[in-house]
Amino acid sequence: MPDKPHFRTVIEPFIIKSVQPIRMTTTEERERFLQDAHYNLFKIEAQNVLIDLLTDSGTGAMSSEQWAAIMRGDESYAGSLSYQRFESTVKDIFGFTHVIPTHQGRAAERILFTVMCKEGNVVPNNTHFDTTRANVEYRGAQAIDLVIDEGRDPASRHPFKGNMNLEKLEKLINNVGAKKIPLCMITITNNSGGGQPVAMENIKAVRKLLNKYGIPLYFDACRFAENAFFIKLREKGYENISVPEIVKEMFSYGDGCTMSAKKDGLANIGGFLCTNEGDLAQQEKNLLILTEGFPTYGGLAGRDLEAIAVGLREVLDEDYLLYRISEAKYLGEGLTDIGYPIVQPPGGHAIYIDAKALLPHIPQLQYPGQALSVELYRRGGIRTVEIGSVMFGKVDQKTRVETPGAMELVRLALPRRVHTQSHVDYVLEVAKEVYANRESIPGYRITEQPPFLRHFMAKFEPV
Ligand SMILES: *Cc1c(COP(=O)(O)O)cnc(C)c1O
Repeated sequence: MPDKPHFRTVIEPFIIKSVQPIRMTTTEERERFLQDAHYNLFKIEAQNVLIDLLTDSGTGAMSSEQWAAIMRGDESYAGSLSYQRFESTVKDIFGFTHVIPTHQGRAAERILFTVMCKEGNVVPNNTHFDTTRANVEYRGAQAIDLVIDEGRDPASRHPFKGNMNLEKLEKLINNVGAKKIPLCMITITNNSGGGQPVAMENIKAVRKLLNKYGIPLYFDACRFAENAFFIKLREKGYENISVPEIVKEMFSYGDGCTMSAKKDGLANIGGFLCTNEGDLAQQEKNLLILTEGFPTYGGLAGRDLEAIAVGLREVLDEDYLLYRISEAKYLGEGLTDIGYPIVQPPGGHAIYIDAKALLPHIPQLQYPGQALSVELYRRGGIRTVEIGSVMFGKVDQKTRVETPGAMELVRLALPRRVHTQSHVDYVLEVAKEVYANRESIPGYRITEQPPFLRHFMAKFEPV
């Protein structure tokens, strides 16, 4: 790293070379958009959103080097140069022997679990991301979350809240038997747990434990660079190790990984699956051909492979990572100063507000998260996402009785390299106004909903 600057301000380490205008709307307009969308923010047109914090997936800005690489895209069906550049970059950074491109992370997951998992199997993870869980369960296997207790406590400031609970992991192995566990996964950073990192010490210990039982370890690597940077900042002994070296060490403990390039690939689409095992790779490639494409493009264009290859190098830049993590911290601390209860400490890619604690007058089945999300849009055109009872509540199909989710969170996800600090200041100003008026925010009832993944399509009205 260059000399540590003595200035406090962490700047965006880039200049803006191409822009996409965003449009101010009036409160009256937004009120109408909300009514037309039945208060479901997934149904608001993006052009009517001022600051879109719905997700950090595929929403990042590409660099001029990535756009230049796109022009080099070799669109040959088999053996393209773009694939060679992509493959050698992934091998160099991650250190795995076989690299299989896919159109997104979930395609890598589907192929991995189809090949490795059987009905009745059990797959442990610190916390399964929802597509990972769905792909495990689709194989008739059980997805078990074993994150440490601190990882489930929003107020805990443990530096590595994504860590795996080793005792629970060993207990699980002894209970179900190692033969029933085809692989163990570690998600870095732990997305569903608030983007919290996993310590190198924990990864090493998981590996050691799995070795005892002959169980392979795979990483869900979506935010591997953010995780590596947290290790550098927070774990003893890594202060002076470069991020690429930390990344190498992390993956040296694994047998393979799944990856969504829409996150730390700094690309708008893409993913891959890695393994060190030749037999598995062969089976995986056979499946890939069936649904994704030939193994040298896997459902992507040659130009996408180029963008990912460049993005994977850029994401390791420590100036970029410092800015990335500082942006989340700045937003998280700003919200905390206003009085918002958030999942502490701020993670790598998003801030999660505890809407149940913020809006105690709204019962869980009137969706406090949805209420806050709607209010942030109404007041300031900010789009966030509810991660609570709308997403995870369960309606019994016979009795129609509804059980709420475990928590009522609102996620503010930060797209990579997209917003400036004044955008974040604006979000904080809107949040301050929402906070001041929180007691008058109404709850919502659902007027129409599909039987599964209802949050995408449900219709609401204020109570
Ligand atoms: C986004 C994500 C996935 C799935 O990747 P897609 O590219 O959206 O299919 C899997 N795991 C984690 C942790 C993710 O954040």
